[in-house]
Amino acid sequence: MKTNNKTSVIANEKIDNSKIKKATEIILGLQQELKKYTSKGHGPFLAAVYDSKGNLIAKAANSVVNKSCSHNHAEMNAIKLAEKKLGTYDLSPYNLSIYVTSEPCMMCLGAIMWSGIKAIYYGVPSERVTKITGFDEGFKPEWYKEFKKRGITVYGQIEQDVGEKVLKDYVTQGNTIYKPKR
Ligand SMILES: [Zn+2]
Repeated sequence: MKTNNKTSVIANEKIDNSKIKKATEIILGLQQELKKYTSKGHGPFLAAVYDSKGNLIAKAANSVVNKSCSHNHAEMNAIKLAEKKLGTYDLSPYNLSIYVTSEPCMMCLGAIMWSGIKAIYYGVPSERVTKITGFDEGFKPEWYKEFKKRGITVYGQIEQDVGEKVLKDYVTQGNTIYKPKR
């Protein structure tokens, strides 16, 4: 396993091993499934919302390019689906977690905070996403501390090497790196 590009694990509280194990399983599954979505024109990010019993509530890929919408990130799509399914704008009574193949960008962090989701688990950290793909992840210094203040668990860098490979493949295959011109 390569370690030279690894950033240190980000966690804003102590997480049970059982939760880390479950998150690792889910994120590995999402990374594997992601190729199916990118081959259909989706962006290289996949998010899933689960309840505390392990039931899948919603899953969605990034659809910025194929749906012509700049805010169709995987997390935005998954949250929208979960709220529609449960018929509420406030997910907090459901004790839900969101699992994402890469660290959420500044827009998605806002959306997660307002949704009432209780925990975020992610794969590739933003600095590596930016380095590998050129996507701009936004300005979000020490964001996980703000989430802790609001009682939202954050745990990142899950199976980072696997996620980086998926992103590298997306770039190598010549897929779109969408962003506004500056
Ligand atoms: Zn985003």
